[in-house]
Amino acid sequence: MEPLGQDEIRASFVNCTRGEAKGVTLPAPPSEIPWDRREFLGWRDPKAPARAYLVLPYGGEVIGLALRAAAPPKSRLRSNICGFCTTTHGLADITLFSARRAGKAGREGNTLGTYACGNLACSQYVRGELKPDVPQPYESLTVEERAGRLEEKLHKFVARVLESR
Ligand SMILES: [Zn+2]
Repeated sequence: MEPLGQDEIRASFVNCTRGEAKGVTLPAPPSEIPWDRREFLGWRDPKAPARAYLVLPYGGEVIGLALRAAAPPKSRLRSNICGFCTTTHGLADITLFSARRAGKAGREGNTLGTYACGNLACSQYVRGELKPDVPQPYESLTVEERAGRLEEKLHKFVARVLESR
């Protein structure tokens, strides 16, 4: 993705209040982010680990989503596959994230959830920069194809969050 500045990142959030967007703890300084190897910026708030953020280019705009990371459920009926990059994880490394929908639906308390890499490092898993702890099912896709699939799944998620904007 193209590099973004801190102000652009802060201004991108579509599903939280302006006050909440101001309170977002940004990830590494933009100059330290390898933008050309990232489909999106995703991070957990270091000061509030239940908060997480996704920022990505979408339809000519930059869209930021504030997410809630759910406490690990007691049930064993949970997915261990990331809904964005399809990396398989041990249950400790996968998290259920939920996004308040943008606009009216969100004000009415409507949210959208997905299981994803707990550290939101999907771009790194796709490139093999990070290795998951558990063996992966064999896939014959290239890095480019996996990155393309990641983008596609991210876009579907964003589209659903924005539906009622
Ligand atoms: Zn992932």
